[in-house]
Amino acid sequence: AQEHDTSRRKVSDSHYVGNAAQVADHYNARPDVGVQNRELSPIIGLKKFNNWIKSVLVGLFTHRPRGGPGAKVLDIGCGKGGDLQKWKQARIQLYVGMDIAATSIDQARDRFNRLNRPGFDAFFFAHDCYSQSIKDALPGYLANKDMYDNVSMQFCMHYAFESASKARMMIENVSRYLRPGGKFIGTVPDSELLLDRLKAIPEDEDLRFGNGCYSVQFEERRHKGLYGHAYHFYLEDAVDDVPEYIVDWENFVSLASEYRLKLIYKKSFHEILQEEKDSRDFGPLLGKMGVINPEDGSSQMDGDQWEAANLYMAFAFEKS
Ligand code: SAM
Repeated sequence: AQEHDTSRRKVSDSHYVGNAAQVADHYNARPDVGVQNRELSPIIGLKKFNNWIKSVLVGLFTHRPRGGPGAKVLDIGCGKGGDLQKWKQARIQLYVGMDIAATSIDQARDRFNRLNRPGFDAFFFAHDCYSQSIKDALPGYLANKDMYDNVSMQFCMHYAFESASKARMMIENVSRYLRPGGKFIGTVPDSELLLDRLKAIPEDEDLRFGNGCYSVQFEERRHKGLYGHAYHFYLEDAVDDVPEYIVDWENFVSLASEYRLKLIYKKSFHEILQEEKDSRDFGPLLGKMGVINPEDGSSQMDGDQWEAANLYMAFAFEKS
């Protein structure tokens, strides 16, 4: 497989819209610690669990033709390329990674170059996928109608819900080159759960909840409509106080339907574990990926990490 380095372009500051500069700066500044140092992270159990969840999603929804060429995948908000190995396991033929954080894109490209026999081609682009069309960044040979079998957005879609125009551009980019029958998969904070926790905070108290490994700080108590309801999220050794936005789920599903995307799967991370922990495909992966100790089945996650894990849910849509 070859890697085509077509994008050394940085997203210039003048292109940033809304809070995008703050988000890009945060992710650009986070070091790529490598696999060995990652083991030292205080939330390594949670990181491994999140990776297992993403492997389940990739496994459940990647088209694997018998004997034919593998899937073509567009990973929007790909970060440092943490999912490259999962896509390798899914025996894809093409991977296109895009992210607003140019440093992360360089690290993702490096990570791809270090993969042992990836078996697929990969291309990487620094691009603000919530304010600009992806057609402005992709060369013609990566921007064909009905080209992609999968679009993936992991732990990143919620940043688009700052405004209606960003959410619309995001979903337009998702749908633009996805083929009919293709799957759009992702992971986002569960906004219903966040709003329930917010509601439960007594009057006169700080609009904040969390535990030793995460915190969520709201600015306003009132759910202020479909877009722009901000909260600040902190996750130990991962996210430092970045503004994120409530994804009003019903509104999102109806927005997606305007772009021919129909919801086929929605589950909390806890539900996914319950459903897949003993499955033939994904059960053994729990031990292999270090989520549990294969000897005695014990988890690397403590109670605080387990609570943080369930702030998220996973989804899949199918294009008609
Ligand atoms: N998907 C990766 C993963 O699962 O490891 C990275 C997740 S990280 C929590 C969120 C990513 O969303 C960051 O890399 C960030 O730069 C990216 N992001 C945020 N806003 C974006 C935008 N407007 N366009 C493209 N990527 C964006």
